[in-house]
Amino acid sequence: MEIINHINYTDQNDHIYCCLRNRVVKLNQDQQEQFCQSCKMFAGTAGGRGVECAWEDVRNVSNPHVVIDPAKEFISNQRRVVFQENWTKRASYCG
Ligand code: SF4
Repeated sequence: MEIINHINYTDQNDHIYCCLRNRVVKLNQDQQEQFCQSCKMFAGTAGGRGVECAWEDVRNVSNPHVVIDPAKEFISNQRRVVFQENWTKRASYCG
C-alpha cells in the first residue's frame, strides 16, 4: 500500500487532524513536543503552516493529500475505520 503524505494545514483555530491520536487537535507546542516530535509519521511542517504526516491510507486520496478542514478529515477517517471494522488493523495503517 502506498505511503501518502498528508499535508495538514492548520485551520483558523490552529487545529489539525492527528492520525496518531485519531482526533482533531490544536497544533501547539504541547502537541508538537509530546506527539509529533517522536511520531514516526512526522514528515515536515508544511512550510510552517501545519504538519505533514506520512502513512498508508486505505482511502482513495491523492498523494500528497492536502487537508484544510480537519473536522472533515476526521469524519472521513472514521468512515474508514467503520469500513475496516478492526481497530488493530487501523492502527497499522496509521503508522
Ligand atoms: S506527526 Fe504524528 S503526532 Fe503529529 S499530527 Fe501527524 S500523526 Fe499526529
